[in-house]
Amino acid sequence: MSPPVFRFAPSPNGRLHLGHAASVLLNARLAERMGGRLLLRIEDIDTARARDEFIEAILDDLAWLGLRFEQPVLRQSTRFAIYAEALDKLAAQGLTYPCFCTRAALLQRASGHARNHPRDPDSIHRYDGFCRHLPEATVVRRLALGEPHVLRLKMDDALARIGAALAWEEGLPGATHAVQGDAAAWGDAVIRRKEFPASYHIAVVLDDAAQGVTHVVRGRDLYHATAIHRVLQTLLGLPAPQYHHHALVLDTDGDKLAKSRGSPALADLRAAGVRADDVRRRAALPDA
Ligand code: GLU
Repeated sequence: MSPPVFRFAPSPNGRLHLGHAASVLLNARLAERMGGRLLLRIEDIDTARARDEFIEAILDDLAWLGLRFEQPVLRQSTRFAIYAEALDKLAAQGLTYPCFCTRAALLQRASGHARNHPRDPDSIHRYDGFCRHLPEATVVRRLALGEPHVLRLKMDDALARIGAALAWEEGLPGATHAVQGDAAAWGDAVIRRKEFPASYHIAVVLDDAAQGVTHVVRGRDLYHATAIHRVLQTLLGLPAPQYHHHALVLDTDGDKLAKSRGSPALADLRAAGVRADDVRRRAALPDA
């Protein structure tokens, strides 16, 4: 049997912090324990936000933590053609539609509604289906005019097509249990963004499959998104990895660490004299 494959998949739009360290170190421990591989993947589809200097910094921080990765490291920005092919496949199955709604319109229509998405890097709210019901002629005209749009998945049709319950194996290797996601709760998820020709969801499932990832170990904030990933995997005929959504490292207010909240980067800790060993201790997550 081939060895298990784990991955760490940071988005290079900021410096790594303790939460990233916790995630990559847990992946590294599990891979080592199981005689597996740990791959690094740079999730740089958002070409407006991703910066080469952050990629350099990520590699540098990981090396400081004592982690080395197989080369070449996969960069999502080299794979737009693969993502486009998969999106075409979904479109050919009649499972997608263009959505022209602006962010402002979405926010306005959603005011008063709960912001449903636990964490969706690709959209802000559960969509109300406005563009799904546009007359065909309107869609054709707006597309011909080159109006910016996202591509959405017709979630109810996709689920009807799949026809089976979409469970996945969740938990630490050797201690998993089947869980049932709630993809319907997401509504018509964005599968291709306006600003770049892919989405987190489509890229992550295609890359996990292309890299032969058998174990996805990532933060609990992405737990619910896994339901969308299972739908896409099933529609595209991709294998389902095992998942473990680990606890998040929180700041003293109980919030998830984030650059936007001023959480210190590993580089800041390092500059302040913190040693890699201290970070390894502070970033330890329960994993057995
Ligand atoms: N690129 C994502 C992030 O930096 C992680 C995606 C994943 O692990 O599936 O948050």
